[in-house]
Amino acid sequence: MLLLGLALPVLVLSSCLPDEDPDECVDFDTTWGYEGEHAPESWDICLADCGGGSQSPIDITGAVPDPDLAPLDFTYHDEPIKLVNKGHTAEFEYEAGSGNVLVFEGEEYELEQFHFHTSSEHTVAGQQYEMEVHLVHKNADKTKAVVMGVLIAQGSENPFLATFIDHIPPTKSSTPYEPGTEVNVADFLPADPGYYTYGGSLTTPPCSEVVTWLLRKAPVEASAEQIERVHELFEFNNRPVQAVNGREIREF
Ligand SMILES: [Zn+2]
Repeated sequence: MLLLGLALPVLVLSSCLPDEDPDECVDFDTTWGYEGEHAPESWDICLADCGGGSQSPIDITGAVPDPDLAPLDFTYHDEPIKLVNKGHTAEFEYEAGSGNVLVFEGEEYELEQFHFHTSSEHTVAGQQYEMEVHLVHKNADKTKAVVMGVLIAQGSENPFLATFIDHIPPTKSSTPYEPGTEVNVADFLPADPGYYTYGGSLTTPPCSEVVTWLLRKAPVEASAEQIERVHELFEFNNRPVQAVNGREIREF
């Protein structure tokens, strides 16, 4: 009788697991989203990695100053504007081998693209910002990524964003915006060199835990109209903060 009593709740629990039908996960790479059936809370049903112990974003709190950290070592050049609507965000894409690189803790990572989230994904001591930009860099064999996150607070018009923000293609896979002019993403970064760093994941499926995060401490500003340009196309495309699970957050 005792064994039966213990076993019963387990059976009930397993029969209540949602979406066990693998058909739910067919084409998940194109059906995931930020609300409804395939919202962030259920990504791990189809992708176990999204339920891992080192997921991103997180709330940044309790960061420890690390004297071994150095100012970020990046080399970014003028590059032609190429803005693509990826469905879940707008992405500014770089040619492979363009030579826009970041060196972190002895390894070189090449800048592949940057993209936008409204609202911010990372929070700092619980504070969320209006927007967050992710500069995605990969190492030579593309097994590891370094993502530099830049928080955006509502304020003055941002002159860097002004070069393309009104021209995001309105629908997924439509023709990229390529005006033939060049910009340097270094002009977008905050002057303050401070940053937080921790080990985490991609914040979108497949949620791979291969990312060293470099979140700049100082936000940059963009106007309410500029933030709305992104928000009106992609609505809320920020994954909620994930459990830190004892990970160390270092700061420079
Ligand atoms: Zn992102």
